[in-house]
Amino acid sequence: MTAETIDVLLIEDNPADARLLEVALEGSQFRTHKAANLETALNHLFNNPVTVVLSDLSLPDASGLECIHLLTAAAPSVPVVVVTGTKDEETGLAALRAGAQDYIFKDHAKGALLPRALRYAIERKQAEQRMIELAQQDALTGLANRVQFRAFLDKAVARAERLDRSVALMFVDLDRFKMVNNTHGQETGDQVLKTVAERMTQCLRKSDLAARIGADEFAIVMESLDSPQTVSSAAQRILDAVSRPFSLGAKQIHATTSIGVAIYPMDAATPESLMSSAHTAMAQAKERGKNTYQFYTREMHQHALKQLELERTLRGAMERGEFRLHYQPQVDMRQGRITGFEALLRWQHPERGLVPPGEFIDFCEESGLIVPLGKWVLREACEQQQRWRALGLPPVHISFNVSARQLQDSDLVQSFKEIVEETGADPRRLDVELTESAMLKDPESVGRLLQGFADMGMGIALDDFGTGYSSLTHLRRFPVTTIKIDRAFITNLSTSQDDAAIVGAIVGMGRSLRLRTLAEGIETSEQLAFLRQLNCDSMQGYYFSKPLPVEAVTSALFERNLYDLEPAPKASAAGAD
Ligand code: C2E
Ligand code: MG
Ligand code: MG
Repeated sequence: MTAETIDVLLIEDNPADARLLEVALEGSQFRTHKAANLETALNHLFNNPVTVVLSDLSLPDASGLECIHLLTAAAPSVPVVVVTGTKDEETGLAALRAGAQDYIFKDHAKGALLPRALRYAIERKQAEQRMIELAQQDALTGLANRVQFRAFLDKAVARAERLDRSVALMFVDLDRFKMVNNTHGQETGDQVLKTVAERMTQCLRKSDLAARIGADEFAIVMESLDSPQTVSSAAQRILDAVSRPFSLGAKQIHATTSIGVAIYPMDAATPESLMSSAHTAMAQAKERGKNTYQFYTREMHQHALKQLELERTLRGAMERGEFRLHYQPQVDMRQGRITGFEALLRWQHPERGLVPPGEFIDFCEESGLIVPLGKWVLREACEQQQRWRALGLPPVHISFNVSARQLQDSDLVQSFKEIVEETGADPRRLDVELTESAMLKDPESVGRLLQGFADMGMGIALDDFGTGYSSLTHLRRFPVTTIKIDRAFITNLSTSQDDAAIVGAIVGMGRSLRLRTLAEGIETSEQLAFLRQLNCDSMQGYYFSKPLPVEAVTSALFERNLYDLEPAPKASAAGAD
């Protein structure tokens, strides 16, 4: 097939007539597909490319204008040419009014006339389509115009209602645009508007709709919001983008915008009221001194500001290298030695001091910041493993935490692989720790990811076990190597018989599935004694050591005095390392 092949759908129930029309199209660039009734025709139209439809008006299952209505409704961008009986001018004209591009008499459908009629119909239809596009487009900026904006907003709100989602509407208004027009002339003003439109589009996602709805007023509709933060980040990006100076010829022009945001269904229940809420918010933004954005509701606004501030601070912290890893030893009681360390993230804040992950990890997950941060964690752990090796210490095993959000990153395995290779770390001495709920979010793709880690040689530890579904059978399909029994059970060992029984059962199950069991949060010698008696493989907790900064771990590794072990009751060769 060449690019110029024209696929004609020929709808004609009379075989002789069909043959006649087919012959008229032979030997040129046309490729004819025949249908003897409307149903077959519509089926073909839905499932195949069709350039033009050539249709008789009396068919067994539909006749007259009904045919045209159904055909144009099924494929609005495909031109329809109607074939009528001789001298049936009246019907032909009615067909045109009903949406056909042209009509042709059967008697005339010979020689060059029919191909020419089809070609003209195709061209006219294209021109018509272009007109429709233009009618929906703002001529100056190429953005959607007011008409298209309204239609899109209505649909977006209807979709959101059906799917129980939210829609954000942003009104973006240039500050003091009249002044630009008056001082620099309208041509320059137009240039500014065009550039604003371009910069604005770059701040948005593909699925967002940007429209110009007034001289210097724009509207943006955002669907499928993960969180209000998506909107505030976009608003801030637009403010930043527009406030960069415009160089137009020799002139430098400065412009700013004010943005008002309203969210369906929180701030309004209908498209109309959503627009009025967004307008109110924009007026507030102007009042607050321009070059700023404002949410319709105060709480939303406060929340958005805080989130944005936190995101900025955390990004800054990453750039300034304020994150640290602390290491907590994991101990094998039977061998009486450290088998490895869990790397735990800390934020060394210049004023607040050491901030624990509980205060920022959730936010990093919501904002997606955990993806780059998680890569940093692995890189740092790998580099530390190598630094210890360079100091002549025996190889050190390191576990690191991976959260659910990181598992959505499709090239996680690849990027981990690169980090391990670049640093020369030993993947067999690395364990990925993740929780059961993270694994079960999307079991199939997570299964593939985990297999990727296992293929690299990494171990996989199931963190906080016992707090989720705790279904080991569920988990047998994942290449898990270690079960970490959650601290909550260990804490209650002495007071809760249930918890003691649960811990016993988990250790027993782990043993029969040949998985290593590791108890978290050991704080007392009683807890230690209980787990020892159960023959739990490894332990971790303040009883042995809190998570320590790297210098402390290094010197402890040299002095081998990280913890005072009571001698193990009986030596066993079983161990993780
Ligand atoms: P987790 O992976 O279950 O880590 C164990 C947490 O228990 C650590 O808290 C550790 O300091 C604490 N812990 C250990 N032994 C004891 C004990 O005997 N008593 C008590 N009360 N607590 C003990 P931390 O460091 O605050 O970390 C909290 C959570 O933050 C971690 O739970 C993990 O889910 C997450 N996290 C930490 N670092 C990272 C990281 O690099 N990436 C990701 N995605 N998450 C991390
Ligand atoms: Mg952990
Ligand atoms: Mg844990």
